Amino acid sequence: MTAAESLAERCLELPGGVLGADGRCHRMVKVRELTGADEEVLAERAASGARMVTRFLARVIVQIEGLERGIDEDLVSDMLVGDRDYLLLRLRQMDLGDHVHQVMRCPSPACGKKVDVDFLVSEIEVRRVPELSAAYRVQLGDGADAVNVAVRLPTGRDQEAMAALAPANPAAANTRLFSRAVLKWGERGPLDEEAARALPLKHRSQLAAFLERSSPGPDLYLDVQCPMCGADMGASFDLHGFFLPSAR
Ligand SMILES: [Zn+2]
Repeated sequence: MTAAESLAERCLELPGGVLGADGRCHRMVKVRELTGADEEVLAERAASGARMVTRFLARVIVQIEGLERGIDEDLVSDMLVGDRDYLLLRLRQMDLGDHVHQVMRCPSPACGKKVDVDFLVSEIEVRRVPELSAAYRVQLGDGADAVNVAVRLPTGRDQEAMAALAPANPAAANTRLFSRAVLKWGERGPLDEEAARALPLKHRSQLAAFLERSSPGPDLYLDVQCPMCGADMGASFDLHGFFLPSAR
């Protein structure tokens, strides 16, 4: 929580922010109390998780301080992934409580036991970005392999576009993300999917790491060991899945 935030007032400060047409960054968001109708929107199985989160947040966000345009699905799609995750987390905390209980399965084939995982939303670390930018410059590789890249941070719209690929093939999802988020690759302009797929693996992995460490938002990585066999169960938890009590 930041000093400007108030759960009682349902006033939240985005860890990234929304850039207005004039380039100003807007961070303070007011959200309303959730109802069963909101729960139904989030539980809709016909659309992708990212799509449902867009619909859900467009209903629930009342105001973004200082932003001239109104709140609609278009705006929410263009919000940063980490800002959307942050709002989901805080809404969960405000309306369903701070304590989260999740049952995960041990990934070790020899074990496969169900493990109870408990944590508090308030203990999740949030990375805040003081200066949000519409584009970032990064040098990938070195020496003769060096290339200068201009890239923007991933948004909900990117997640929506990657949704069909992400669970089955994360590499294909990355290809799609790079083809969307890279604004300039060396002397070339943006990349199409073919060009993003043809990039050297080292450049791709460095780009993924850059986007990861530059993106604001909650750290959704759970550091958990299986109590039965000690296997590392570290995984990103599924925000969308844990939000709804009925989904467990
Ligand atoms: Zn185990």
